[in-house]
Amino acid sequence: MVNPVITPKTAEKTPVWERCLSIPGLHGKVPRYLDMEISYQDLEGKTHTHKALSSWAALLQHECDHLDGIVFPMRMTDLALLAFNDEPGPLAKEVAEDPRGIDPLFVDLVERWPGVQDGSREIRNENVVRDIRRFFRKRFRTGHPRSPRQDPARP
Ligand SMILES: [Zn+2]
Repeated sequence: MVNPVITPKTAEKTPVWERCLSIPGLHGKVPRYLDMEISYQDLEGKTHTHKALSSWAALLQHECDHLDGIVFPMRMTDLALLAFNDEPGPLAKEVAEDPRGIDPLFVDLVERWPGVQDGSREIRNENVVRDIRRFFRKRFRTGHPRSPRQDPARP
């Protein structure tokens, strides 16, 4: 996919659990469009447009963000939902409430947690949230706070 452009088909984003090889040891819940269209060119320059739904849509947004130097914690609106893989946290709580809701991509984590319990390491302090955002911006980005790929007005 060359020059992907994402066009959301819903007004609202839905929080979905994500993790990333670029950020080992953490997972978090990220608001994403679960109904969108993606246009891109292939290596011959031909334009393609596809509809994408659900976790496929979330994954495409995640990967397109990488092209802009954005990693998933920078998209999070509630950093209380950023958690360590090594211990049960908010995801474990969700799974305990409804085990059917678990994304297959997270089954290995959940299975690693003996007796899923309430997370005690949630980050709720606003200053901590701001510091984490600042860290990820400095570490992974160079410029704009939003991905131009999610702004349909930009080419
Ligand atoms: Zn990633």
